[in-house]
Amino acid sequence: MSVKILRASVIAPMDRAPIVDGAIAFEDRIVDVGDARSMLSQHSDAKIFDVGESIILPGLVNAHAHLELSAFCQAPEPKSFADWLLNLVPRSTLSAADVQGMVERGIPAGVEQCLRFGVTSVGEISKQCMFSRPMLQSGPLRVVSYGEVQAMAQRRGLLDERFATATDLANESQWLRVGVSPHAPYTVEPEGYKRCLEFARREHRPIATHLAESPDEATFLEHGTGPFRELWDALNHWDDRVPKYMGGPIRFARDLGLLDYPTLLAHVNYCDDDELNILARGKASVVYCPRTHRYFGHPPHRWREMLARGINVAVGTDSCASSPDLNLVDDLRLLHEIAPVASVSTLWEMATIRAATAIGMADQVGSITPGKFADFTIFEAPSLKAILESHVTPREVWIRGDRI
Ligand SMILES: [Zn+2]
Repeated sequence: MSVKILRASVIAPMDRAPIVDGAIAFEDRIVDVGDARSMLSQHSDAKIFDVGESIILPGLVNAHAHLELSAFCQAPEPKSFADWLLNLVPRSTLSAADVQGMVERGIPAGVEQCLRFGVTSVGEISKQCMFSRPMLQSGPLRVVSYGEVQAMAQRRGLLDERFATATDLANESQWLRVGVSPHAPYTVEPEGYKRCLEFARREHRPIATHLAESPDEATFLEHGTGPFRELWDALNHWDDRVPKYMGGPIRFARDLGLLDYPTLLAHVNYCDDDELNILARGKASVVYCPRTHRYFGHPPHRWREMLARGINVAVGTDSCASSPDLNLVDDLRLLHEIAPVASVSTLWEMATIRAATAIGMADQVGSITPGKFADFTIFEAPSLKAILESHVTPREVWIRGDRI
């Protein structure tokens, strides 16, 4: 394999300050990065790709998506989160062939959007992983495929089957790493969470869950009532043996041991001061999905306080059922709009190195660091700030040393 060089007016490695007139030497992995003059003299026989007045970032990382739902469009504004979920219920009565068809349309649409918007790695939760994984295992997108587990009430008996499907390693490849996702505290009982966490610990694998997404979670955990209970009643699958838990979803996660592991917590839209302290003492990452958050009209997210307390916070899009599309940079643009004083480089970290940490891939992707994969996203813009203050989309995306 011969060495290639990408040269641009700015390189933003994300593990150090931007380099003006920089260059990256790489094969399938990054060999070296620095100022263009020294890179060119050190690698004089390399093939040179000069992208001129552009900024090269590491390939972006979307820490929370559901690619199989990419064939859906965002529904009209929901009355509430539970109401939105209830609208998804008819999908649970689809035939196996219908579900497979939905996944077969959704996955390519989701992959196409990721690449178009500069995302080269994704933490994706898949309920239908028996269909989605074979479609994702050959790349070119890097995927942590969190197999989703739901098992509660009259459906608790499905745990063995769902767990076995979610943790099946048959489709694992150099592009696809298998993780597991107990869905949420209103769909998985502690027994299911424990099984998933035990698997993650034993096999050193990523685990993700939706947590504190809606204020109704605490009501449901504490009393078995509220909109989530109504959802179960609508499905006709409730029973009264579902364990109760006093103290809300964040303490629930802590007591299960999820915060002692680098668990990915999607959303955490509801978090008081004590809960913030609990998260800060743990190892979990929080993934904030700004446009999805706005779609549901949740109160302001405490991401800046989380960052200030040392919690790893990343951005994600969530699925096309709650986000207009998978344009992760539009989520950063929304953050820049919400918090114009927040450091622009921190925002970009949330879509690169922090997101890579959240999905357990920080040793492979997320920064332009020698040894990591040669995945790059290139924008024709003068600075990281200028990208956020325009609607520019990537001019080129490179994965594993090749232009896509
Ligand atoms: Zn989600």
